[in-house]
Amino acid sequence: MRQGTKIATRDRPRPRKRLSKALQVRVFRRDNWLCHWCGRPVIFGPAMRLLEAMVRRKGYAGTLAYWDLRNRRDASPLLDHLMGVLDHNVPHVNGGRCAEENLVVACNKCNALKSDGDPKEPRRRIAAKYGEPKHWDGLSTLFMLFAEDDLVRISPAEREWLEALKEPVAGPDRLVGPLKGK
Ligand SMILES: [Zn+2]
Repeated sequence: MRQGTKIATRDRPRPRKRLSKALQVRVFRRDNWLCHWCGRPVIFGPAMRLLEAMVRRKGYAGTLAYWDLRNRRDASPLLDHLMGVLDHNVPHVNGGRCAEENLVVACNKCNALKSDGDPKEPRRRIAAKYGEPKHWDGLSTLFMLFAEDDLVRISPAEREWLEALKEPVAGPDRLVGPLKGK
């Protein structure tokens, strides 16, 4: 029984339906880990937790602001802004379904702009001189490497993420099975 969930989530976006991690990984990869609304590259949150854990293992005892459970701006500014989440393209209140086709990657900031009715519009962007990133992975490869390393203890949820991320990636431009040999 989770205590206090109601209070903690009262002012936050409605809890989303439970999506399998495999589905979430598919959407992150389909969208190249870029926010649908602002185009910014997003970060896979658990990667930052493992990064912090690795720094700790190396003996660093100072204050860090890499990761925080609640993505507080003061405690994890990168995640507060850029943590990757899934958002509805057509909002739920407008009949948008919680299905893969209607899910898009969003950064934490754009996701927080809950419009409840007003459709969010992708921001106009200046065309990048060399094109959009195709190989950004949200640091998910770093997560896989650290999670497989046994140097940091991972949670059951992180184990699920690891299994989902290890699914081979389709597409000619992608590594197939980034951790091949494992
Ligand atoms: Zn965004």
